[in-house]
Amino acid sequence: MRIAVGCIGHETNTFSPVATTIDNFKKGSYHRGDTIITAFRGTRTITGGFLDVAAQLNLQPVPLLWTFATPSGMVEHAAYQVLKSEFLTLLQNAGELDGVLLDLHGAMVTDELEDAEGDLIQAVREIVGETPIITTLDLHANITAQMAHYSDVIIGFDTYPHVDCYERGFEAGQLLFGMNEGKIQPTMAYRQLPLLTAPPAQCTMKPPMTDVLKALHVLETERGVVTATLSMGFPFADITDAGVSVLVTTNGDAALADTYADQFASHIWELREEFTFNLHTVESAIELANQTDSRPIVLADGADNPGGGGPCDGTTILQKFIEADVQDAVVAVIADPESVTQAVEAGVGNRVQLNVGGKTDTQHGAPVALTGYVKALSDGRFILKGPMGRGTAANMGRTAVVQIGGVEIVLTERRIQPYDAEVLRSVGIEPQSCKLIALKSAVHFRADYTPIAHQILDVDTPGVHSPNLFSYDYQKVRRPIYPLDSTVTLK
Ligand SMILES: [Zn+2]
Repeated sequence: MRIAVGCIGHETNTFSPVATTIDNFKKGSYHRGDTIITAFRGTRTITGGFLDVAAQLNLQPVPLLWTFATPSGMVEHAAYQVLKSEFLTLLQNAGELDGVLLDLHGAMVTDELEDAEGDLIQAVREIVGETPIITTLDLHANITAQMAHYSDVIIGFDTYPHVDCYERGFEAGQLLFGMNEGKIQPTMAYRQLPLLTAPPAQCTMKPPMTDVLKALHVLETERGVVTATLSMGFPFADITDAGVSVLVTTNGDAALADTYADQFASHIWELREEFTFNLHTVESAIELANQTDSRPIVLADGADNPGGGGPCDGTTILQKFIEADVQDAVVAVIADPESVTQAVEAGVGNRVQLNVGGKTDTQHGAPVALTGYVKALSDGRFILKGPMGRGTAANMGRTAVVQIGGVEIVLTERRIQPYDAEVLRSVGIEPQSCKLIALKSAVHFRADYTPIAHQILDVDTPGVHSPNLFSYDYQKVRRPIYPLDSTVTLK
């Protein structure tokens, strides 16, 4: 069986002013043909999982195009068109196919399309006709009716941090195999809830999501159910379909799929008030660190998470750390190629005058003028060792560790979400020796840091990925929607 596999991926933060260009894809992750196999074999990713199941079941992967740009603002429509046409040409020339696996994200927005993935899946469907299409999506997918209509099955990640990508890719391959054997005839029901949730409440390592996940897995063991997905949505894309949705796929029983989808959607709706949370001030986090000898205390600077479109050069926490003269503290990372170049020119062991961060926009703190000590320099390359994407190569670009007082700043050329502790270890910083660690990550870091952190605090900083949903001026999302509106009912 020949199964086409590919991806055009982006998580679009429509509140970010930074447009996403074709260059961001081509210089981000961009593979064609067999280089996809080289890049993903042996990794804990969707495509890695798919390649393994393909080897087991004698499926022949037909790699098309796999490209992903680091989350940022609206994708230029022309860029999407170029990638889409490249993808479709490769698909058209792929020969006879028995299935298509689309490894997509589910929250890509162009300046002309609110639902780019829906458009792509439809275009793929128009080419392959009745050939099975299985789409895998991130837990942050804003799933639309169009995506559901043109896919035979959608399988979303169950976890945030996303540690089950491999398993979902594996599952997709098994399902394609089952469909080709004639054992599975999937029927999928889709329900959208009038509900927006933010990252701290979407984390599946703590309630309410731990319980929700249990219920989802029980549902998947029900007779006739093939797979079920709860997508928590990406609230930083201001589009009609942003937010939570539920999918239940049964083996040929549409009524059963509808019943279970309705039941599960109601279950989530009843829990809506539990998807709220408290944020801490940076000051209170510093105070807490002063009161204990335990370490490290990790601050989640979710508002500037590049994994969700933050510029990654915000300085709010850095500024407060310097002002409070904290010791054994790290800020990871600040993407600032200019400062990196200056640190490289100064050299290790020397002092350097820098204007750090705050250069992309005015929403994440002003540049910080400082004279620091160049502690370390690196090429910024390492292999992920944490539970998320283990085995994948990462590249921060040239990287400098600059020390000011008791604060070490990890300055990178590229925007990278520091969810894997190798970000620190690869530049000589042992996280367990630090008192305070500020990470530009909302939730993903919890996978690697929970076992080693004394305490983790979601801090309230301003930005385009702030977990405070009331800090945004929503224009396009369907209304009424909880928690933005007071009177909302589940239809
Ligand atoms: Zn995600």
